[in-house]
Amino acid sequence: MAESSSTVLQERETLNPYLIAQRQIQLAAGVLGLNQDVVEILKRPQRVLSVSFPVRMDDGSVQVFEGYRSQHNDAGGPGKGGIRFHPEVHVDEVKALSMWMTIKCQVVGLPFGGAKGGVICDPRTLSTGELERVSRGFIEAISQIIGPDKDIPAPDVYTNPKVMGWMMDTLSRMQQTYSPAAITGKPLSIGGSQGRSEATARGCVMTVVEAMKEKGKDMKGATAVVQGFGNAGRTAAKLLSDLGFHILAVSDSRGAVYSPAGLDVEYLSVLKETGSVVDDEALLRITQDELLELEADVLIPAALGNVITAENADKIHASIIAEAANGPITPDADQVLAEKGIVVIPDVLANAGGVTVSYFEWVQNVTRFYWKNDRVLDELRTVMVDSYHAVSNLAKKYETTLRVAAYMIALQRVTNAMTERGWV
Ligand code: NAD
Repeated sequence: MAESSSTVLQERETLNPYLIAQRQIQLAAGVLGLNQDVVEILKRPQRVLSVSFPVRMDDGSVQVFEGYRSQHNDAGGPGKGGIRFHPEVHVDEVKALSMWMTIKCQVVGLPFGGAKGGVICDPRTLSTGELERVSRGFIEAISQIIGPDKDIPAPDVYTNPKVMGWMMDTLSRMQQTYSPAAITGKPLSIGGSQGRSEATARGCVMTVVEAMKEKGKDMKGATAVVQGFGNAGRTAAKLLSDLGFHILAVSDSRGAVYSPAGLDVEYLSVLKETGSVVDDEALLRITQDELLELEADVLIPAALGNVITAENADKIHASIIAEAANGPITPDADQVLAEKGIVVIPDVLANAGGVTVSYFEWVQNVTRFYWKNDRVLDELRTVMVDSYHAVSNLAKKYETTLRVAAYMIALQRVTNAMTERGWV
């Protein structure tokens, strides 16, 4: 007998990121055999501040904006995590992202906990002046719970060094103290770090290189597909191409382009500067779904969450997937990919290069001693390569996925910190 549609609906996997993050924690905690008291603490953030604040618009009207800052767990150090400006910011998404930040910081051994913020707004419709007032208004609204030793924000989707500069300035003015360590991802002239803007993609590609070596695959002539051609995706495509990969396909929000012989990433970057990667009619167009389903050595989702789900997981043909984006693969899809033997380098490891260089920036701000780019790159490589192998070795030992192994390492570290502090 055919299933009723309500049964199908009930059985359909959740795409709510907060429930997904809770499920991921529960799964790894089960393999680790963690005490359920610990799991209950880690399944929810310690604090979520919800704010609304008025902003004077250019036409003289006042608009009220809403935002959130979620602090998941600060047992291992002050909270760390970006602030996103997006019309679809939702409190559950912010909570999930703060949980992933705890795991991310701990898996690569940073002395930070997890946090995340978001403002419901569409920065593309704001003038520069309005954007500045939203940035200053939000950071002032959450100022009581942030600071260099409490919680340190950074850029995320649709926020950038300019926004971080305004935020750092607002905090410094409020405290009457020059306070660069309160925010990372700042412009270089006010305490930003060399190498920060490329760090996420660099870290991601470093983990891809290690995974390719483990599979005994040569980088020269290997193939890669990249979804999303922004900060993370574009730089990852360029770095892979420099290593000898053929970039078979890339996409942005307007569409995807494909070349079996490999695309010219520099040329696509030029197209993207003024519009989209699909702006040259001579390039072969494919759909976003077709892009994800291409046969390739490496697939890098670098755009959105929930792009590989139970619906399309069995159609994925890449050999290695490195999650530059946060949460692109659902837990049900994870299972299917694992059964197919596809190696998934999870977001909490693959895109940890960004927060790692944010940590370097914070260290430089606190010590007032600034590093050259070579030092940033060397230290980043050490963190990413060591972390990759720690995760991979644990995954082999427990015969589990890299995601579960990464969560196991992070959860054990947070649990140790909570235990030593007497929380459990
Ligand atoms: P970005 O805004 O610079 O780029 C996003 C890209 O995705 C753009 O090219 C956009 O056109 C494209 N895009 C949007 N909708 C799409 C769709 N439906 N299909 C294909 N492409 C689409 O953002 P970013 O900084 O590169 O971040 C991308 C992802 O990486 C996000 O999930 C973010 O949370 C994650 N991430 C970024 C960093 C970082 O330091 N930049 C760090 C950690 C994680």
